[in-house]
Amino acid sequence: MPELDLSHFSFKQLMELDACTRCGECVKWCPTFTEVERDEITPLDKIHTFGGFAKSQYGGFLARLFGYRPPTEESVARWSKGTYDCTLCGRCAVVCPVHIDTRPLWIAMREQLVDMGTYPQVMDSLRENVGANYNISGDPAEDRLIWSQNLEVVPEGVRGKEQAEVVYFIGCTASFYPMTYVIPQAFVHILEKTGVDFATMGPEEWCCGFPLIIAGMSEATRALIAHNVAAVRELEAKTLVAACPSCFHTWEHTYPEVLGEPLGFEVKHTTQYLEELITDGRIKLGSFDRPVTYHDPCDLGRTGGIYDAPRNVIRAIPGIEFREMAEIREYALCCGGGGDVEMADRDLVAAVSKRRLEQAQATEAQVILSACQQCKRTLTTATRREKVRMRVLDLVELVDRVLEE
Ligand code: SF4
Ligand code: SF4
Repeated sequence: MPELDLSHFSFKQLMELDACTRCGECVKWCPTFTEVERDEITPLDKIHTFGGFAKSQYGGFLARLFGYRPPTEESVARWSKGTYDCTLCGRCAVVCPVHIDTRPLWIAMREQLVDMGTYPQVMDSLRENVGANYNISGDPAEDRLIWSQNLEVVPEGVRGKEQAEVVYFIGCTASFYPMTYVIPQAFVHILEKTGVDFATMGPEEWCCGFPLIIAGMSEATRALIAHNVAAVRELEAKTLVAACPSCFHTWEHTYPEVLGEPLGFEVKHTTQYLEELITDGRIKLGSFDRPVTYHDPCDLGRTGGIYDAPRNVIRAIPGIEFREMAEIREYALCCGGGGDVEMADRDLVAAVSKRRLEQAQATEAQVILSACQQCKRTLTTATRREKVRMRVLDLVELVDRVLEE
C-alpha cells in the first residue's frame, strides 16, 4: 500500500482529525448512513480511520514504539467505500458541535484515495470524458447547444455573439441530459424577454471542473479553468450566471483561488439574478395557483449560503401558496444526487431521494421547486419510480411559466 501524502490536507484539517469527540451527532443526520447503516459511511468512522492511518505513519506513541504498520488493502478499501458513498451534502458539518468542516475534509480524503489507487474505477471514465470531450457525459463537445434545437426562436445570445454583458454558463447536466434541457430553454427565454444582453459560450463552454474536484481529481481541472475564464473574458462580460449551484460555487470560489487573481466579473446563481430582475422591476410575474414546496440544493444552501434568494423569488409570485418541508435551509435533507454517488451507487441515490420525496409529499404541495439541475433529475426520477403525482420544477421554469409578456 503506498504511503499517505498529507499534503492533500491543510494544517486545520489535520487538527480536525484529533478534534472529533465521537459524540455521534453527525451519524444521526447523515442521509446515506441512515439508508444503509454501514459504519464506514459515518463521518466519525472516516475521521478515525484516516486519523489512525496518519498516526501509524507519522507518529503517535504506539507507532513510535512498534514501528510503522501500513494500512491493509482491506481497511483502505473500506475507507474508500465510505468516503465515496457520501453525497458531500455537508449536513454533518452543520450539526458537529466542534465545528469540523467535513465536506472539504472528505474531498481531501478522496484525493488521497486517488493517489493510492483505491477509488471507484468508474471515476476514470468521468476523467476520460471530461478530458476528451470537456463534459461529463462523453457526448461530442460540439453538441453543447443540443437543448436549443427545438426552441421556436433561438435567441441571438444562443446562436453566438462576440460580446455580451451577461454570460449564461449552462453546465454539463442541463446541456446533455434531456430531462433538464427545459432549464436553459426557460432561462434564455426569460433573458430574451427581459432584453438582457446575454450570450452562452456554445461549444466553448467546458465542464467547470466540479465533478472532477469532488472525485478527488482536481489536478485534471486546471486546463478547464484556464479555458473557461479566457472564453468569458473574451466576451467582455460583467456577470456570469449559472443555474447549477455546483458550477456557481466552483466559479465563485475555486476559480479565483486556482488562478490566484480575481476573475474580473461577478458570478451569480440564477436565483440571485432572478431576484434582482424582480426587485428592479425588470420582470413582472403572473399568478400561480398550485401549492408548492422548495428543496434547498446542498451546494446552493449549505455550501453557497443562499437560502433567501430562491424563497424571495417564490414569494414574489402573486397568489402562490408556499409550504416548507420539515427539514429546510442548513438542515435540509440532500436529494441524494450529489458527491458523484450516482456513479458509484445508484441504489443509494434512490433511497435518499425517496426519503426527500416523502418529506415533500408531507407538505401536500403539488409542485416541488428546486434550483439545481441535478436535484431536478434526481427528484423527478424519484417521483416516476415511486409513482408520486408531484411535478418537479426548477425555479427558472416556474418564473418562465408565470412571466408576463
Ligand atoms: S457530507 Fe452528508 S452524506 Fe457525507 S458524511 Fe456528511 S452527512 Fe453523510
Ligand atoms: S459530530 Fe463532529 S465531533 Fe461528533 S462524532 Fe461527528 S465529527 Fe466527531
